[in-house]
Amino acid sequence: MTIKTILKKLFIPQPPAAPEVVPSGLYHYMREAGSASSEPGTYTRFHLRVEPDGRGMLLANATAAARLSPSGVLMAKELLDGASPEKVLADLKASFRGAPLEVMQYDLERVAGLINGLAAPGDNYPILNFEDPDLSPYEARLMAPLQADVPLVEPEQLALILDRLWAAGIPHVTFLAPENANPTHLVRAVERAEDLGMIAGVRGRATDLSQGNLLRELALAGVDHVTVPYASAGPAVHDAFLGLGDHAAAETLLVAIQENEVAAVAEVPLVEETLAGLRQTLNALLALGIHNYSFFAIAALNDMSEAQRAGALTASAMPQAASRVEELSNDMDVRFIWQPPVQRDPAISLAVQVQRGPRASGDVSMRVEPDGAVIPPRGPYRSAGNLLADEWPNIWNDDAFLHYRERVERPTRCDECPDLAICAVDCPRKPAGWSQGVGGVL
Ligand code: SF4
Repeated sequence: MTIKTILKKLFIPQPPAAPEVVPSGLYHYMREAGSASSEPGTYTRFHLRVEPDGRGMLLANATAAARLSPSGVLMAKELLDGASPEKVLADLKASFRGAPLEVMQYDLERVAGLINGLAAPGDNYPILNFEDPDLSPYEARLMAPLQADVPLVEPEQLALILDRLWAAGIPHVTFLAPENANPTHLVRAVERAEDLGMIAGVRGRATDLSQGNLLRELALAGVDHVTVPYASAGPAVHDAFLGLGDHAAAETLLVAIQENEVAAVAEVPLVEETLAGLRQTLNALLALGIHNYSFFAIAALNDMSEAQRAGALTASAMPQAASRVEELSNDMDVRFIWQPPVQRDPAISLAVQVQRGPRASGDVSMRVEPDGAVIPPRGPYRSAGNLLADEWPNIWNDDAFLHYRERVERPTRCDECPDLAICAVDCPRKPAGWSQGVGGVL
């Protein structure tokens, strides 16, 4: 049975207007993996995020998540704290008066089973599919996104940002490594995130992450995943976008990431040239052992001139392009996540846009700029507030986020191209749902 099926089976009904018994916030636990096949000393990291209404979300290695009712939150927290089932049951009876004992016992067994199931080691790349309603961060009153993408800055500034993210209840951060990333800063960033108990990832060009012992040091610092742009199986095509020699560096790095027992992710940019060779690209990546893919398209307004478009996909070609990507990925049985499309910016070359990548890691994420400005993953490049200066609830309820949430909560599917995962959030041919303006690694 897959984790997804287990989660669905174990989903706990939510009693209306139940009292808040666990204060809202983020709780972090490490638990030894429970399966018979697990290596001794293998740990699973749990985050229990309790929302202001008492409901919660339990995340395991940020790869799998289950929603919990207020009583489920109490059970999960106490079990993870090491309380005995008898103590949990007594506390349940005290907090949720009127619920039948047999129901409580049954639910407690289910939550204990859920924790044990999630603690079994598995693939540890955090993919939360927006399509799955159990995992959508926007179909319930949540207090924050689940991830943040943060360009690498000086350690002191980054420490402030990480502390604020943790306080806002965001358990997962991806550091965006710029060209010639400072290796010491990158390692310290990962260490700081790990010290806080966050899931930590790094996204950067292979050329920039292949310096000396950087990868080994990142692995020792506890990095959970490394995302590397890979444009094409053809070295000439790839290097034209990502720099001379980057193709060879990417192939070496993707193997080395796995050898260091870190989750490797290939970020595949989608423009006309890379889409044409996508099957070969996926085959080449599969041969390197890569099973986690992150796709992002660079899309141009339909009336943009050919010269300005420079090979970006047109808006009207987006559904067909998405359909091809999903068909190939399903045929080849690879896991993928869609990033919001990035709007073609004619002021810079297409290669620079490919190097910058998506604004944020999908719709469970947000971007935090070095000065603390918080940018939603889609729509105009507009700050919802400053993480370092503003209270988080004000940022989350700013117009920039409200507008974004209203848009993604609205059903967008139509019958034109059925079964596309990409339009679970927004129709890919509508520019209002793209990331517009500045984004990616600057
Ligand atoms: S919203 Fe409609 S047109 Fe747009 S991609 Fe989805 S099915 Fe196709």
